Amino acid sequence: TEPALIRNFCIIAHIDHGKSTLADRMLQITGVVEQRQMREQYLDRMDIERERGITIKSQAVRMPWSPPEDAGGGDGGRGTAHILNMIDTPGHVDFTYEVSRSLAACEGCILLVDAAQGIEAQTLANLYLAMENDLTIIPVLNKIDLPAAQPEKFAAELAGLIGCDPADVLRVSAKTGQGVGELLDEVVRQVPAPVGVADAPARAMIFDSVYDSYRGVVTYVKVVDGMLGRRERIKMMSTGAQHELLEIGTNSPEMTPADGLSVGEVGYLITGVKDVRQSKVGDTVTRLSKGATEPLGGYKDPKPMVFSGLYPVDGSDYPELRDALDKLQLNDAALVYEPETSAALGFGFRVGFLGLLHLEVIRERLEREFGLDLIATAPNVIYRVVLEDRTEHVVTNPSEFPVGKIEEVFEPVVRATILTPSEYIGSVMELCQNRRGTLLGMDYLSEERVEIRYTLPLAEVVFDFFDQLKSKTRGYASLDYEPTGEQSSQLVKVDILLHGDKVDAFSAITHKDKAYAYGVRLVARLKELIPRQAFEVPVQAAIGSRVIARETIRAIRKDVLAKCYGGDISRKRKLLERQKEGKKRMKMVGSVEVPQEAFIAVLSSD
Ligand code: GDP
Ligand code: MG
Repeated sequence: TEPALIRNFCIIAHIDHGKSTLADRMLQITGVVEQRQMREQYLDRMDIERERGITIKSQAVRMPWSPPEDAGGGDGGRGTAHILNMIDTPGHVDFTYEVSRSLAACEGCILLVDAAQGIEAQTLANLYLAMENDLTIIPVLNKIDLPAAQPEKFAAELAGLIGCDPADVLRVSAKTGQGVGELLDEVVRQVPAPVGVADAPARAMIFDSVYDSYRGVVTYVKVVDGMLGRRERIKMMSTGAQHELLEIGTNSPEMTPADGLSVGEVGYLITGVKDVRQSKVGDTVTRLSKGATEPLGGYKDPKPMVFSGLYPVDGSDYPELRDALDKLQLNDAALVYEPETSAALGFGFRVGFLGLLHLEVIRERLEREFGLDLIATAPNVIYRVVLEDRTEHVVTNPSEFPVGKIEEVFEPVVRATILTPSEYIGSVMELCQNRRGTLLGMDYLSEERVEIRYTLPLAEVVFDFFDQLKSKTRGYASLDYEPTGEQSSQLVKVDILLHGDKVDAFSAITHKDKAYAYGVRLVARLKELIPRQAFEVPVQAAIGSRVIARETIRAIRKDVLAKCYGGDISRKRKLLERQKEGKKRMKMVGSVEVPQEAFIAVLSSD
């Protein structure tokens, strides 16, 4: 297809504002999916996505569309419609880099906002990304069929935000289809056609790659310059890896092979590789012979931000956990892990994630799709520790934090954007202040809604920040954040000791002003959860050799069997059996028996 007839666009929306429903309606109206095949949320293929209503992986669909003016003059008579490529962007903070690559493949975007809710922080962050990428933005209010819709109010808010006339804000109902055809007409009119050099060496940008168990990795690209054809030999520019194009084509919405893709076109490549790390998001694909020498800009390696130890509840599941992680990694270039041993939890893995949602999704998939029962240690960030002798240590496991002779410790920070009704400004600022935040600025979107920006240590955000924010604002605030670097902080390691033995799974890095509270809380918790033993067990929190909190679990006074008054043998046996069963779920930590449940309870964030 000629570039002049192509329109590449994406939809930016907050969760539940109707992106999937709108996409469904577009597929239907353009005739790409026939009525009888239509099922809800056609594009959300993964089960977890469906259930949680979040889109994790982006995809691209090609749809033909002719606005009324096509039919009159021009090429309408010759039956050439415009080609719309809708590129689905992941909708969550953890995937900012993937969002930025999807946006880079587009010339325009639909900013979709629920007409009963207004814009949310996440949408705002993605809108700013779209603006940075110079995309044409089409503001749209969805759900105008709802009685609670306030299109006038939110049209004004949107118009103020992007600097257009409120009358230019389109109004649709993705549910009923009202206004969706007109929206597609506007996409053709407003979104610029892609520009590229047709006779230059081929350069295509990878904006997504997905592992398919039958076909191997499916790589989604936008061709920027030149052309890629079937059976051609190609090269990945970041690694130099070479492959043969076994298949090239477009999604409409199922994979449809083609002879090639040219300037401005969006489609998929199949090379037979089995691991998504061979097709990195952001990388440039070129031809092997007479290929491009300069890659397209913007490539970055995915970098894990949050770490957690994952251990099978049943130690014999370790090989299955390893196999499951291997499988998930085929489809997830950002997932990293290495084996780790914990004195308390046994054999497991230290796993790196892009953020908390990523962690949750992976954990849930391990449990659900692979049937594993897991213990996860509290999530932590990466610390960079500089010792007095100027050597540097990168710490991804708090128990490995060096002791003594520390010159300086650096922790990652994020720039957080919070949108809240103005009545909660005070509570939001108090929360951010408690979390060691630095106020960057504040803007009113309207009289009732405020955007507040803070720099916060990532470690403070990963620990129940979002839940706190929600509860302090009755659920009205929304949050987005992006990593912005690191800062030097007064951080210490707090160890927990049971009967004098360190329990590595409970070691944590905290700010020195919060160490005491952390120690007191954990020690009290453990005292509650660990049953009495035959001897007295001190539970202590310590920084280095200095104890900062202490509780004592008192010894059991008499043998349990004494309760059975000698006579009844069967009761005695039952009691012994029950004890034995209980023991199976106990872990020995030094000389202390700790029930599995205690670990799970202490490590879960509430
Ligand atoms: P997404 O999270 O942005 O993909 O949102 P969905 O498309 O999953 O929609 C979230 C919810 O809003 C679903 O229950 C939809 O049925 C509903 N919804 C979407 N569009 C409309 C609309 O135009 N009108 C009404 N009344 N409901 C809608
Ligand atoms: Mg969706």
